[in-house]
Amino acid sequence: MIKSVADYNFSGKTALVRVDFNVPLDDHRNITDDTRIRAALPTIDKILKDGGKVVLMSHLGRPKSEFKMKYSLLPVVSYLNSKGYKCHFSQDCVGRRTKDIIDSVGMGEIVMMENLRFHKGETVNDPDFCEELRKMGDVYVNDAFGTAHRAHASTFGVAHLFKERFAGYLIQREVEYLGDKLLHNPNKPFTAIIGGAKVSGKLDMIHFMMGKCDNILIGGGMMYTFYKAKGLEIGRSLLEESRIKMASEIVEYSQSLKTVSLLPVDTIVAETFYEESPFKIVDVENMPDNMLGMDIGPKTIKMYCDIIDKSETILWNGPMGVFEMDNFAKGTNAIARAMARATKRGATTIVGGGDSSAAIKKLGIADQYSHISTGGGASLEFLEGKELPGIKALEI
Ligand code: AMP
Repeated sequence: MIKSVADYNFSGKTALVRVDFNVPLDDHRNITDDTRIRAALPTIDKILKDGGKVVLMSHLGRPKSEFKMKYSLLPVVSYLNSKGYKCHFSQDCVGRRTKDIIDSVGMGEIVMMENLRFHKGETVNDPDFCEELRKMGDVYVNDAFGTAHRAHASTFGVAHLFKERFAGYLIQREVEYLGDKLLHNPNKPFTAIIGGAKVSGKLDMIHFMMGKCDNILIGGGMMYTFYKAKGLEIGRSLLEESRIKMASEIVEYSQSLKTVSLLPVDTIVAETFYEESPFKIVDVENMPDNMLGMDIGPKTIKMYCDIIDKSETILWNGPMGVFEMDNFAKGTNAIARAMARATKRGATTIVGGGDSSAAIKKLGIADQYSHISTGGGASLEFLEGKELPGIKALEI
């Protein structure tokens, strides 16, 4: 069982909270996108409102176990103070001075500790480092879904040292949607639409999802490797030679299941990989030698949207084409809109993966889905059926 922050009163407690404040900074160390901080605020607010103290720990970037100003979490302190929080800074995340700062701060206030990854102990989950971190709070909360697939000290090792450990709202919501509503108890029919550049990054997910879904719809650059596996010519389209065999195996596997696995029947081909390139629509059996596949075609869009219209649970991960170029964004946009329609009629719609999220943000319809997963690598591993250490560690 995993306990949620919602079910606990933090009054008088110091909560050690793992957040994902790995935010992008410009050259002057201004935060250029605060999405990740805003995502953790409901959990922080809950603890503060109860009358607790919040000690925040996070990583930022990939410092090689040593202090580097550009990876300091200090900008987050100014950010939180500008939003009305009382946030203090500790130049370290372990040691006597850090503990003194935490002790000197009142309930209802925050201490942001410096980047965990300035210490080698973080990424190697060093037991001594975990013990040191443990001293910084009475109870433990993890709300960093984006790093839940890593067994690091702050996401894994230290959690086990607390009797009282909780999932923050962000993790709770991801587990509710990706776990309960998608993998464990999906309303049927359940359809997964999987696209993106390469088969290699998504084979495990396709394989796992095939055992769970009623329909799997494939699109994006990866479809051409599947065509090649079926013996079709694909011109100059994206191809992963080394994955052709695996793609055939997965097609064979799908035939042994009841799952309907579909590949596009038509595709948009362009002369060059360029926004203004001349293009045309062809059936997949007729791809010209000298052109490359950039998007799914209109017959495929119709076929896929019809299935989405009849599905009750829909997962989408990865664009259907090179959506960054307007001429080749039609397939991706059509799927995005069909999913938004499905949400309106009560279906559960879940979007995973940074590029699909970027596509729906570009269309301005990001609020028209049941859930948009926040963790790239973490949601991918979840959808491959893997256990995430950061979530497992919260179980009691
Ligand atoms: P991924 O990170 O694997 O989800 O892939 C996302 C990327 O796949 C986007 O940048 C798309 O432009 C790219 N992509 C989608 N379809 C194609 C295609 N037919 N050819 C080349 N790249 C593609």
